[in-house]
Amino acid sequence: MVSKPMPWTIVHPPTVAYFSMEVGLDPAMPTYSGGLGMLAGDSLRAAADLAIPTVGVTLLHRKGYFRQHLDAWGNQSESPAVWSPEEFLEPLPARASVTIEGRTVQIRAWRYIVHGVSGHTVPVYLLDTALPENSPWDQTLTDNLYGGDDHYRLCQEVILGLGGVAMLRALGHERIQTYHMNEGHSALLTLALLEERHEGRGLHNVTAADREAVHHRCVFTTHTPVPAGFDQFPMSLARQVLGEEPTDALQAVESLHDGVLNMTYLALSFSRYINGVSMRHEEVSQDMFPNYPINSITNGVHAVTWTAPAFQGLYDRHIPEWRHDNLYLRYAIGIPLDEIQQAHVEAKRELLAEVERRTGIRLAPEAMTIGFARRAAAYKRADMLFSDLDRLRRIASQVGPLQVIYGGKAHPKDEGGKTLIRRIFQAAAALGDAVRVLYLEEYDMALGKYLCSGVDLWLNNPQKPDEASGTSGMKAALNGVPSLSVLDGWWVEGHVEGVTGWSIGDSSEPGSDPSKEIASLYDKIDLIVPMFYERSPVFPGVMRSTIALNGSFYNAQRMLFQYLENAYITD
Ligand SMILES: *Cc1c(COP(=O)(O)O)cnc(C)c1O
Repeated sequence: MVSKPMPWTIVHPPTVAYFSMEVGLDPAMPTYSGGLGMLAGDSLRAAADLAIPTVGVTLLHRKGYFRQHLDAWGNQSESPAVWSPEEFLEPLPARASVTIEGRTVQIRAWRYIVHGVSGHTVPVYLLDTALPENSPWDQTLTDNLYGGDDHYRLCQEVILGLGGVAMLRALGHERIQTYHMNEGHSALLTLALLEERHEGRGLHNVTAADREAVHHRCVFTTHTPVPAGFDQFPMSLARQVLGEEPTDALQAVESLHDGVLNMTYLALSFSRYINGVSMRHEEVSQDMFPNYPINSITNGVHAVTWTAPAFQGLYDRHIPEWRHDNLYLRYAIGIPLDEIQQAHVEAKRELLAEVERRTGIRLAPEAMTIGFARRAAAYKRADMLFSDLDRLRRIASQVGPLQVIYGGKAHPKDEGGKTLIRRIFQAAAALGDAVRVLYLEEYDMALGKYLCSGVDLWLNNPQKPDEASGTSGMKAALNGVPSLSVLDGWWVEGHVEGVTGWSIGDSSEPGSDPSKEIASLYDKIDLIVPMFYERSPVFPGVMRSTIALNGSFYNAQRMLFQYLENAYITD
């Protein structure tokens, strides 16, 4: 395939610098923790597919997020996920520096190249401070993703935001029109852009014109529907790390909220375009930030990355254009049901083989298999399915066997998340052979692909309205796996009852009513399990319409087109 220029690359190249604290680039590079990093990786993959001139900026994370170990009771312990950057990345000779607590910290970058479907590429720069010129402590600043305390985190954000812009300059990227902040962690890049306006004359006397100029160059995507999730730092810490002048400048630009430096507000006040990641999240965000116009671009996942080999082959045979243009997945509606079922049998076999490789446990290929995997955070309520064990036993014994596969890491400091994992282990022990329940260690990009494509039903029951979007159900949809989910995040718009999956509860209430949701969860399982086991075209029909309706839309190519049209192209 010859790489052809896209119209926007000829007329007006809107070069975008995409900044994200985490990016999922390769299953073997532990440079992400969850959905935010996957979204960043999928966005860059789609930018390469669509030839949108883009560069990515993130940190190297030499010790990764962490490796997860679970004992027989479900107690999680962690160890560093050390990896070898030189196996995947090219070290670049360029150097940049930032000032932290008055010290100069040197930065280098490693380059990863994302290849698009037509041969276009997107470079990603992973910043690294492990240089002998730096103090031993400064050398650790690009080691741990979301590790350490506030002080460590703020220093990392200096490297990402200020260091990232400095590195782009050192690498010769002068023609960047748009700085896209994926979450607030990179918001200090706005200070670097202000400083550039002053051409080295420091940050005092920042004028309205300076602010307007920076505002014109920035785009911000918020992912956090709860204020407690905002990235914030005491002013005394900001002063210590950044120094007097930058802190005074921050104070002058509406980045403080309740007296602390708030990265979300910093990003909001400097962005010409702001969006939430689903329509519901736009509403929630607009209520939280009444002074800023909030838009919505609903997340999508990179179709080729998340489609299992069996479904890739199926689509290649019936709709070969799908790789270049995911909209063609609409035509999956014409694929014969038995071929969809056959591809699913194959994807399920691959999942069960992987489960056996990892655990030695052989699950039953005919048994209805429910999947639940995501970060083990309290609001995701991983244990909801086990609210009534008797009812679950009854469904399994009266209708047909059920098995459930879980995965997900709790942040090392999140005791609530760790407790949830233990509860799943307790439920698994209580259910025994009546309903097989497995919790897999080390949920990551590779396992995510097996799970989302290989189970029969994808379950999601977060506390409303805390799920900004959610993306794992979109990965499932690309593989003909319907969702059973609370109406929050993307599911408010992706759900068509009995066509793309099923809802838990109804959408009339913005918040969660756990007892109603639990009752609804079991009612729906009572409905779905017989449908799965009866040999009628109903369940396979849902699988197929899930692909045609949701695979064709909730993909990263559609998402990037929306960013291009609504956020990146300016007149
Ligand atoms: C897709 C993905 C996520 C996000 O899952 P949600 O259900 O949207 O929370 C998290 N972690 C990994 C490894 C993923 O692949």
